[in-house]
Amino acid sequence: MGKRQRDCVECGGPVGIIGRDLCCRCTARAKDAAAKQPCPDCSRSRVLVVETGRCVLCSRRCAQCGHKVRFAEAVLCRGCQRKADLQARQQDCPRCGKPGYLRVDTGWCGHCSRPRPSKKPPRVCVACGELRRHAGRGMCSRCWQRHPDRLHVAGEHLLARLADPPDWLPGLITCLADGYSPGRACVAVTELGRLLDDEHSNHPPSLLDRARRSGRSMGPLARSMQDFFTEHGLAMPTDHNERLAAGRRQRRIEAAPEPLRPAIAGFAEFMLTSRARARRAGTLPRSDSTVEAALAAVRDFASFLNSERGKQDWATVELGDVEAFLVSLPKSRQRRLTVLRQFFRFARSHRLVLVDPTKSLDRKEAKGFRGRTLTLEQQRRLFQRWTTDLLVHPHESLVGILALLHGASSREARLLTCDDVDPIRQTVRLGERPHPVPMDPASWTIVQRCLAHRASWRTANPHVIVTKGTKAGRSPASVAYLSHVLDDCGFGPRMIRCTRLIDLVNTMDPKLVAAAFGMTAEAAMIYLADFVDPTRLPNP
Ligand SMILES: [Zn+2]
Ligand SMILES: [Zn+2]
Ligand SMILES: [Zn+2]
Ligand SMILES: [Zn+2]
Ligand SMILES: [Zn+2]
Repeated sequence: MGKRQRDCVECGGPVGIIGRDLCCRCTARAKDAAAKQPCPDCSRSRVLVVETGRCVLCSRRCAQCGHKVRFAEAVLCRGCQRKADLQARQQDCPRCGKPGYLRVDTGWCGHCSRPRPSKKPPRVCVACGELRRHAGRGMCSRCWQRHPDRLHVAGEHLLARLADPPDWLPGLITCLADGYSPGRACVAVTELGRLLDDEHSNHPPSLLDRARRSGRSMGPLARSMQDFFTEHGLAMPTDHNERLAAGRRQRRIEAAPEPLRPAIAGFAEFMLTSRARARRAGTLPRSDSTVEAALAAVRDFASFLNSERGKQDWATVELGDVEAFLVSLPKSRQRRLTVLRQFFRFARSHRLVLVDPTKSLDRKEAKGFRGRTLTLEQQRRLFQRWTTDLLVHPHESLVGILALLHGASSREARLLTCDDVDPIRQTVRLGERPHPVPMDPASWTIVQRCLAHRASWRTANPHVIVTKGTKAGRSPASVAYLSHVLDDCGFGPRMIRCTRLIDLVNTMDPKLVAAAFGMTAEAAMIYLADFVDPTRLPNP
């Protein structure tokens, strides 16, 4: 043993090495302690495994659930090991295909081997009298689905279930019952119940907002709710139509080539601002369809520039480009030129172009009517078709005869309501016309046919022309429906109406015609133009 140099500062034992404060035992203990750290799981001071950052005991984990495992060689914990052993003994059942313990006597799993509870014997349905399985109230499923009481039963259940049912709920249920078949109405009531049950407010505007489906249609429930709430002054109509219009504008803008797009978006914005200004000022604002048609024309021009002319910048557009574009579709020349003029006026004022390329293009066209009209023979054939052929759809006959004899536009026919029809005087109030239009016997018969057709829908919609899409609500038939309703007769509504207007304006005083039809005098004067298509004149 070496010579004792000094006492250990920890334990007071002998320190043999010169220049050391601790004895050999305390030195070894200090080295050991330096290698250890507290384990984050068991918080004991231990040497941590590098991969897991935990002590060696806490590092042993089950491969499946992550629980601690006692033995070093174990892969799974006890619970997981038991489950794995059980699963290894299971086999796929040949009947249901799921794993299970196959029974020797059946060869199937336990669930499949057990006998089924027998179904109740079929009963004679009280509605249709057939021997079928019973669904409810003594009826088979088919009859119960169609039974008109079903909706009221569902409504009563809903009313009884709610702690504080709103006052308007019975009215809305009646409105749904009027508009839809019992099956569809029940689906709507279920949806309504879910909305009333959730944690949000049951205030009509908030309910209506939550009932709306995303996408182009807001769904039958939201449509009925909107009609009902606006009719009873409980909520404002939704901004659904504005949303749809915004979507249509966006689609037109996005269809244009990328580099030309920002200017078109700016043009759309500009048209909307000027529309808002026109509304405030009380002047005539652009309608949605006008804005959309303008955007479509500019989009077509942009695509034309990109593909045919290879131009990706509005600033490089020249007169020749505009002319080539207008020539590509001669019939739309006038319409497209008007839009392009507006667009380039906008572009110039916003410094997108330096020179307006449409400026030197003259209109070249007189403001007269230039469309085609029907010959007398064609008019006779159409009149015969609509008055005698009962196979023709009543809507076609009505729109056609109103245009042919009374010069009604399809808008006037579309917005015609049952209140406008006076059965005693046999007159019809059309659009903005100051006086009711007396109906001749042929037209009156067609109006009656149309009303009978409407009665067969059993609808509360006030309009005379009711379609499958509008019978549940109160809105008029769509513009698209009216624009195709005359397809079967081969002539468009505008052509038929113009025939009548030209005839009247040229044989009578245009001012009288304008007054009778609720038109402005200028609109009637268009049909008085003395333009004659040179190809139609007899050769000299
Ligand atoms: Zn010591
Ligand atoms: Zn540990
Ligand atoms: Zn486990
Ligand atoms: Zn099975
Ligand atoms: Zn039945």
